[in-house]
Order: sequence, then C-alpha cells, then structure tokens
Amino acid sequence: MNLLLLEDSDFTDEQHVRLSGRRLTHMLEIHQVAVGDTLRVGRINGLMGQGEVISLEPQQAELRIQLDQQPPAKLPLTLLLAMPRPKMFRRILQHCATLGVPEIILLNSYRVEKSFWQTPFLQPEAIRENLLLGLEQARDTVLPNVRIEKRFKPFVEDQLPGLIGDQLGLVAHPGNYPACPRGIDQPLTLAIGPEGGWIPYEVEKLVEAGMQPVQLGERILRVETAVTALLARLY
Ligand code: SAM
Repeated sequence: MNLLLLEDSDFTDEQHVRLSGRRLTHMLEIHQVAVGDTLRVGRINGLMGQGEVISLEPQQAELRIQLDQQPPAKLPLTLLLAMPRPKMFRRILQHCATLGVPEIILLNSYRVEKSFWQTPFLQPEAIRENLLLGLEQARDTVLPNVRIEKRFKPFVEDQLPGLIGDQLGLVAHPGNYPACPRGIDQPLTLAIGPEGGWIPYEVEKLVEAGMQPVQLGERILRVETAVTALLARLY
C-alpha cells in the first residue's frame, strides 16, 4: 500500500479520519506506525496529501489529514476488454487501475465462456475493491469507470463508432497485421480479446466500427500480459 486511501465515511470532520480493519492492520503490521508518524494519504476520487497519526489503539487509529496534491493524470484511453477468466479479471482490474486506465468496457465475445459472467468478482463492491488495490499501488485516488456490455453486435454497431469518433481505435489481434504503434500521444480506444482470441467475424465488426488490427509479434501473450505489454508500448 503506497497510498492510504480514505473513504468519505472515514472522515469525522474535514481534517480528521478514523480507520479500522484492513488499513489499520496494514499501518500497524507493515508500516509499524506510531503516534506522530505521517503517512501518504488520498481521498477516493479526491486530493492526496499527508496524514499524521494522532491516536493509535488496537481497534482504531485517528489521523489528522492535509490534502493538497492532485492525483496523477490518467491515460487518454478507453479499454475494450473481452470478459476475462475471473481470477485473471481481478488482477487485470488492479493492473488497469495501477497503470492509469480511466475507462474499462467489459465486452462479451464468442469465445468468452458464459460462466465468466456469473463471477462474484463482477459485483460492484468486488470491482471497487480490486480497483482500490490498484490505485493504492500507483498512488492514485480516482476510480476508473467500469461498464459491462454483454451484447457484442449491438454495442459494436451502435455505440463503438461514436465512442471512437475521429480518434484512434486499435484491436490487438495476433497475425499478419501492422505492428502496434509505440509512444502514441493521442486518445485511443483499444480492444483486447478473450483467452481464445477474437473470431474473424468479430475482427471484421471491430474494423467496420473504425478500429485497426495491430499485432505485438509472434509470441501469444496471456490477456493479462497483453494488457500490460500493450499499454507500456503505447504510452
Ligand atoms: N489464440 C488466440 C489468438 O490467436 O487470437 C490468442 C488470444 S490471446 C491469449 C488474448 C488476447 O491478447 C488476444 O485476443 C489479443 O487481443 C491479445 N494478444 C495476445 N498476444 C498478442 C499478440 N502477439 N499480438 C496482438 N495481440 C495479442
């Protein structure tokens, strides 16, 4: 935890918070804080700054808070992600939050197993919890927006062209395509496929909607690795 994230409900007034549970345990066991120590803190969806420990008990800590720094900028990116396998999904959410993805759209695709949509990790509280873990890691406070689109064709035909607009749209797909660009400096919609890959019909529809297929070389990466490799290369 590189940043102690504060919920609105932690605040007892504008300058004080009371903490318990996981964050208190982390403060005690990992940071081994004592009264008088300061920690880096951030208000969820708000500013970052310092928190001074002013009281410490086994069940509760109180901090005096000063918030005066903006969180880091997000990437100019919308990530269109075929719904991944649940365990990987949790980690991908964390990576996306850490890397600064502001907008994630989870999309159905022919090779997404139906059972993936039943995972409890899709519950809003579970999504939030994993995003917070990623934000804590990166020292960011702003939660990415996560949207679910379970119908591929209507989404790609009716919504995707407007979402891409006159900006860049790329679909990552192994094969004989142009290499994925590096170090771009422009807004982008990026589509990453499921474990079994996009089927040809889906690639056709994504291209019709305004996306260009790009590849990352002959090595086939796991979805989780592909997300990180693509973002590192693009930005
Ligand atoms: N057998 C599948 C295929 O050929 O498409 C592999 C899918 S891969 C495990 C999952 C997703 O990661 C792909 O749909 C693609 O979006 C991305 N990906 C992985 N390796 C890639 C590569 N070398 N080039 C482009 N995209 C890649």
